Amino acid sequence: MLINGKVRQSCSALIDTYAPNEGDMVTLEPMTKFPVIRDLWVDRERVFAALERVRAWVPIDGTYDLGPGPKESPDAQATHYVLSTCMSCGCCLEACPQFNLEEDKSKWDTSFIGAHAISQARLFNGHDTGATLKGERLDALMAPGGVSDCGNAQNCVKVCPKGIPLTESIAAIGRAVTIHGLTSFFRR
Ligand code: SF4
Ligand code: SF4
Repeated sequence: MLINGKVRQSCSALIDTYAPNEGDMVTLEPMTKFPVIRDLWVDRERVFAALERVRAWVPIDGTYDLGPGPKESPDAQATHYVLSTCMSCGCCLEACPQFNLEEDKSKWDTSFIGAHAISQARLFNGHDTGATLKGERLDALMAPGGVSDCGNAQNCVKVCPKGIPLTESIAAIGRAVTIHGLTSFFRR
């Protein structure tokens, strides 16, 4: 929600910080980039729709025991761990000037996908099994509303409650999309 006009996690906002003196006012408002359901409750379905656009998951070919997965190096683990802490709160989207309230679901496929989805694409592209969908993720991120719509205002990284390096992810995906675009062009 917005607390004194700024988006953040209400559960970790201590009242002493916001109203240290008797009579201090605290203003609570719902996020503005999502449809309000009631009071401070907003509909974040679009956050999850963006994750679907980039196929933010590890594909499996069954529910039986596949045995241990591929091993990750400690360096890769260190990079990926923080990315995996995203909780789809939507704070990065609320702060982003490129992401706007869009209640018409038919427009979601071409509206800006958001920093959270770009970062999750980086996470799953870096996973050995997840990388089998890398091409599809990069196709989605090359499409309208993809990574090139980011205006690099860097508001997202300042408000992420998990400290996820979103601008690093945007830069990494920007490079990956360029390489993917060139490779696809020469394969034709
Ligand atoms: S860097 Fe990109 S994703 Fe982040 S707030 Fe700016 S425009 Fe939005
Ligand atoms: S990237 Fe950060 S701000 Fe954005 S949805 Fe994930 S945890 Fe929330």
